[in-house]
Amino acid sequence: MNAPESRNGMRRVGLGLGANLGDPAGNLRRAVASLSEAGLVFDALSSLYATPPWGVTDQPDFINACALARTSLPPLALLDLVKATEKALGREETRRWGPRVIDIDILFYDDLRWRDDRLTLPHPGLLERAFVLVPLAEIAPDLVFGGVSLAAAGSGAKAQGIRKLSEFFPKNV
Ligand code: AMP
Repeated sequence: MNAPESRNGMRRVGLGLGANLGDPAGNLRRAVASLSEAGLVFDALSSLYATPPWGVTDQPDFINACALARTSLPPLALLDLVKATEKALGREETRRWGPRVIDIDILFYDDLRWRDDRLTLPHPGLLERAFVLVPLAEIAPDLVFGGVSLAAAGSGAKAQGIRKLSEFFPKNV
């Protein structure tokens, strides 16, 4: 991967956000506001996309988006923050790939490769899931994972029933 260099001791991270319960778009916006209050600096937010459910298909469509941010938190502390944010927004333990109020994935953390029982980086689903690739390619088309640019991977994934809905924070709200 060729994530941009970290600046001022802060690391560049990619986040994937998804929700399909309650007010999904509002939940994504609240998640970003809450992470930002906790010190993450957001550099880019993709549009919101409606995406068909993946894995478990008898559930409402998801709203997905991706974000680029900077953080001074080490990887596991960032994961703790992400999990605490999900919980504060009302996330309850659900079946794998089932409906959820909010899901926040750490897609990458600079160029770091990490694998333990809590955290895998880059996120293993990054190149496989159109609901991640399409929004991430919108804000970071030049990033390369495993020799594949997100622009190429994202355009290959576009046919999979994903619809762009609106900007992350519509200007008139
Ligand atoms: P999820 O159902 O997406 O909330 O994720 C379930 C578990 O995946 C979390 O409790 C994490 O410990 C683990 N996990 C492993 N790698 C990652 C990652 N890159 N980002 C977020 N969660 C991760």
